[in-house]
Amino acid sequence: MSFKEILGQEKAVALLKGAFLRGRVSHAYIFVGPAGVGRSKAAINFAKLLLCEAPCQAEPCDVCPSCRKADAANHPDIRVLSADGQFIKIDAVREACRRLALKGFESSKKVLIISDGAALNDESSNALLKTLEEPSPDTVIVILATSLKAMVPTIVSRCQRIVFSSLEGSVVFEILRRDHGVGEDEAFYLSRISDGCMEAALQFHEGKVFAQRNRLVAGWLRGGAGLFGDEAGGASEKKEPRQATEMALYLLAGWLRDILVGKIVADKKYFINADRIDDIIHLSRKLDAEVLEGALKLVAQTAADLKANVNTRLALARLNTELQKIA
Ligand SMILES: [Zn+2]
Repeated sequence: MSFKEILGQEKAVALLKGAFLRGRVSHAYIFVGPAGVGRSKAAINFAKLLLCEAPCQAEPCDVCPSCRKADAANHPDIRVLSADGQFIKIDAVREACRRLALKGFESSKKVLIISDGAALNDESSNALLKTLEEPSPDTVIVILATSLKAMVPTIVSRCQRIVFSSLEGSVVFEILRRDHGVGEDEAFYLSRISDGCMEAALQFHEGKVFAQRNRLVAGWLRGGAGLFGDEAGGASEKKEPRQATEMALYLLAGWLRDILVGKIVADKKYFINADRIDDIIHLSRKLDAEVLEGALKLVAQTAADLKANVNTRLALARLNTELQKIA
């Protein structure tokens, strides 16, 4: 593992490498940014770099005993503290801080990574505060956080912030392919609908959203324009959980939008459902723009109705009736 593997976070990585090269590593950091964008990987790699016996240009060497232990997640001087239940327990923080105060087992430095700053409640924050206020010279604490608001302000003010940003669609695509073995078409689709949020992309992957999208498209291609693809019209009778229904509306809106866009351009890069470009172009020749716009408005209205707790069955039945007119 090296910093090169952390995609799309050039600025954060440059700050960390720069601090290392200048000998100005802070005693405490908060890596703040959305989940799944590389904060955790960066923290482990930073720890590995700090403990490496022969670092080169602010990259760990990968071959020294210390690097090998870090890669195997069993380095005695790198500790990761995670929540036990909802919070990180005060005893766990005390124990970690006590260890930090001891001399390193194998290296001159010791690193404590706290995997979720929001899981530090008032008690455990207080326990940590003492160590942050009087840090031992060879210790580095890295706290990962998705938001600083959820953290105790006195902790935040004592740490240097390193901001990790949302990812470009192309980076989400690459990570899905490389780290999660997602197929090319699915990875591309998820990278488009997740809007730079790796966590959302992974949730969509786990929720089999791509398969759901495929059912939707299959239904439309069979001439059954509908919300739930093959089961067009049947959704209102089935008891779909609200979340699934909202997802279906979201996918349908993206599909309708693409058919509309297909009336103007045919370049893949403008489409959410780019892997189905031929089907989209075929439908955009067949369907009328006004009808498509009307359907899009109705989808938005139905989504709003669901949020406002209007009778779900009625709202979906009305939508499906209207959609049937399109096909
Ligand atoms: Zn090394």
